Amino acid sequence: MKTDTIVLGAGIVGTSIALNLAMRGRSVVLVDRRGPGEETSYGNAGLVERASIYPVAFPRRISALADVALGRNPAAHYHWNALPGLVPWLFAYWRASAPARILDYARTIETLLAHSLAEHERLAGASGAGHFFREGGWLKLYRTEAGLENERGEFPLASQYGLSAREIGVDEALAMEPSLRPVFRGAVIWSDPHSVSSPGGVTQAYAAHFAALGGHVRRGDARTLARLGAGWSVTTEEGGVEAPEVVVALGPWAMDVLRPFGLRLPLQVKRGYHMHYHAADGTALSRPVLDEEGGYVITPMVGGIRLTTGVEFARRDAPKTPVQLDRTETLARQLFPLAARAEPEPWMGSRPAFPDMLPVIGAAPGQNGMWLAIGHQHLGFTLGPITGRLLAEMMDGETPCTDPAPFSPHRFG
Ligand SMILES: Cc1cc2nc3c(=O)[nH]c(=O)nc-3n(C[C@H](O)[C@H](O)[C@H](O)COP(=O)(O)OP(=O)(O)OC[C@H]3O[C@@H](n4cnc5c(N)ncnc54)[C@H](O)[C@@H]3O)c2cc1C
Repeated sequence: MKTDTIVLGAGIVGTSIALNLAMRGRSVVLVDRRGPGEETSYGNAGLVERASIYPVAFPRRISALADVALGRNPAAHYHWNALPGLVPWLFAYWRASAPARILDYARTIETLLAHSLAEHERLAGASGAGHFFREGGWLKLYRTEAGLENERGEFPLASQYGLSAREIGVDEALAMEPSLRPVFRGAVIWSDPHSVSSPGGVTQAYAAHFAALGGHVRRGDARTLARLGAGWSVTTEEGGVEAPEVVVALGPWAMDVLRPFGLRLPLQVKRGYHMHYHAADGTALSRPVLDEEGGYVITPMVGGIRLTTGVEFARRDAPKTPVQLDRTETLARQLFPLAARAEPEPWMGSRPAFPDMLPVIGAAPGQNGMWLAIGHQHLGFTLGPITGRLLAEMMDGETPCTDPAPFSPHRFG
């Protein structure tokens, strides 16, 4: 089969790219070894984090680092045996987390975040996925004055970008979410973000609209990608596919395909877990809630209340070690009346991450006709649709809606 473009990876990023290209009239084959939206894009906290201009940075204070090292911070966990291989990456992450560079990061990521809601709305409107989305922002809760004080430090920059963060007292937070228990001393409501009741469902709806426009969704192993003359070929369960252009949007698995072509990019993973819980009778949650010092988020989802954990540094394919889930479940039960676990096994996924915390969006170095859209770390669900638009504009040789230079793979040399 011949097509204009092969897109490898049907997570939120690849699916949004395929849909954007199909909406522009290209013929596209979207290839995944599973169904669309069944991996990382299924299991996240469901936030369209419009207001997340501050990154999840590497701790700079010795005390914060000691908390992680000694297992006192439930938001972070690590495997000892993964650390030696991570040293250069962690060092680059630490450097990128310096206060001055965080401001550069904020300016850069804002160029994508500013489009994030509108691009989701455009794709959701076309795909009939609007029912998954809710307004109401997200509520961040603080158990300590120090945590609140730290959060207040983010307000001035947020307001420069027109984002709304309002500190509220415990009573006002409980009025917004009456099922919460007052185990916190203050809260901040960030009202710009939206959230969804099924990130996997949203991705599948975008894929279904892509198919309705004539796009092809095929099962196949992206590692069969090969050069074919000036173009590319890949093998799927329904036969070979050939195209002059290929997009690699394989999230945490991107390097499995890129390494054999000689591409060296510092992509690592930050693993995370989730579990669904039934809500106790008569209780409800209407928006995602972050327990900052507890190190977890609870989000109302179609499958129940989803508790998502922070970061685990481990080899991507190492067996699950859901210790953070066990620790944060105890804290979450203090905050919200969770009933029984709704699943036998915790879900685990991997945030694909570069050390400077920015994604790579652009042409692959030295590989004519290959494009990259990877490494969206904590913001992939948020940024999938704007990534799809930006890359489609670049591929069509148009003036892009925002400057893609900061997202170039060339920044790694
Ligand atoms: C616990 C947790 C909470 C998060 N919360 C949020 C949040 O609230 N908001 C937010 O914006 N982001 C969040 N994220 C991040 C977000 O989920 C990811 O950044 C995003 O899903 C990455 O999307 P992707 O399309 O790049 O990767 P994926 O969704 O992983 O897609 C990659 C696809 O490639 C396919 N694939 C892999 N190897 C092959 C192969 N060899 N052949 C064929 N196909 C292959 C996979 O099957 C998969 O479908 C969270 C992540 C985690 C882990």
